[in-house]
Amino acid sequence: MIQLPVRDPCDLCIAARDEPWKIIDEGEHTLTVINPWQFEAGQCCVITRRHVATLLDLSAPECSAILQAAKRVAEALVGAYRPLGILTFQNNGVYSGQETPHFHFHVVPRQPGSDWGIGPPQLATFDGAGRARGTPHDPAGDTERMARVRVSTDTLAERVERIRAHLPP
Ligand SMILES: [Zn+2]
Repeated sequence: MIQLPVRDPCDLCIAARDEPWKIIDEGEHTLTVINPWQFEAGQCCVITRRHVATLLDLSAPECSAILQAAKRVAEALVGAYRPLGILTFQNNGVYSGQETPHFHFHVVPRQPGSDWGIGPPQLATFDGAGRARGTPHDPAGDTERMARVRVSTDTLAERVERIRAHLPP
């Protein structure tokens, strides 16, 4: 049984509804939003318009829409930031590091000088990355690290504009 994180109200529903400046791109089933924790400049997520928790909850049209949206924003990130690589990942349940119970597919441009190693930056740098088997990720220890990569609203808005300008037609 997949154990879901609890976040009420849902921050991704809020981003979709109350913070439209965060939205880079949108489609019938998806929104592409900037991630407030910029482990890499331009890091963003494709989320479902519907509040559903995991990959297992997606409809077939949502599945294809998510990958198409991820490809679109990946192309924009290449144009905007000239990254060395693009990492995509997605977490299902607290044992996999999911922190918000709303489906989100990370799209992360990897920049020269990144020191995250190989793998999702959030997971690669968790203090508890070497935790005992069968224990869920405890995000409580990540506060300082998350604060370090949190950028200002102005910076986020600039990055949204920059990525948007490079979206394919
Ligand atoms: Zn939600």
